Parts: sequence; structure tokens; C-alpha cells
Amino acid sequence: MALNPCLYRQERPLPGAHEVEIVCLAGGNHRLGIKGRDPAYLEKACGDCPVPDALADEDRTCLYLLPLRIFGDSGIETLYHCRWLYKLNPKRVNRLLSLHFPRSCEWWFPHPIKFLPPGTEWHTLRAWGLYLGTIEGPEPLWRWSAPDFPEYPSGWRRL
Ligand code: SF4
Repeated sequence: MALNPCLYRQERPLPGAHEVEIVCLAGGNHRLGIKGRDPAYLEKACGDCPVPDALADEDRTCLYLLPLRIFGDSGIETLYHCRWLYKLNPKRVNRLLSLHFPRSCEWWFPHPIKFLPPGTEWHTLRAWGLYLGTIEGPEPLWRWSAPDFPEYPSGWRRL
């Protein structure tokens, strides 16, 4: 089964093993499978996920959008947070992507469709953990990038 490409689907070598795990960053680095093994769970989790489409439209996708996937016992939920606002109220997320469209928010700014903005991993894991209560908050409101972000991706430097 061919899956939609997704900026939040990432591969990480497993320490001490010659294997690579596939994780969902939007799900707090939730494991979707091991590369080269049975892809059934990966295909189920990613197959009907709305996040790839949410990031595919340059005219609608907001630079500050933080999609979250909550992998629970009874199913997978998709939520949408804002990079600025999750720090004010981490539990107040949107279920409607349209609330992050250009006409819905005066802070809207276009999101690159080929790569994630700097600091996205750090903010996603913070927003995900604060929403679920697995980490303590709040964070300073003025922080845009992740602390000590090592280097901006090449695509971002060209902008
Ligand atoms: S579950 Fe959705 S957001 Fe996560 S890696 Fe798969 S397609 Fe991307």
C-alpha cells in the first residue's frame, strides 16, 4: 500500500541494533513500526490520517500549525494546536483544521510544504506532552525556536 508522504513520519536508528524504527512525531514519536518488517500497523495509522493533506496546501497551511495525533486504546484522535497559543492553554486544542486557515486567524503565515519549520519537533513534543499531562508547563511565551536548535534545514536558509 502506497502511503501519502508525511513530514511527521520519521525514521530513527535504534541504539545498539541494526534496525530503524518509524515514528510519528505528531504522536509524540509514537512507534509505527520497524523498517522492513510487517507494515500493517503503519498502514493503518497513516492510511486514514488527515495530517499529510493538512500540510499539503501552501495557500492554507499555517506556519504555526502543530498537528497532534493521540494514539489511544479506543482509536487515534487528530488535534490541531498553534505554536504560539499552546503555551497559554495547552489543553485547549482544535479538532477543526479550518480554524487555522488564513481567514480564521490574523496571525496566519504560509507554511513550507517540503520541510518542517525550525523547532517543530521540540514544540510538537511540548504541546503533545502538555496536552496529555505527561510533562510540566508552562513554557516561556516568547520562545519561537527550540532551545539550542543546532542548524536550520537548508530549505529554510534559502527563504
Ligand atoms: S500518523 Fe499521520 S501524522 Fe503520523 S506519521 Fe502517519 S501520516 Fe504522518
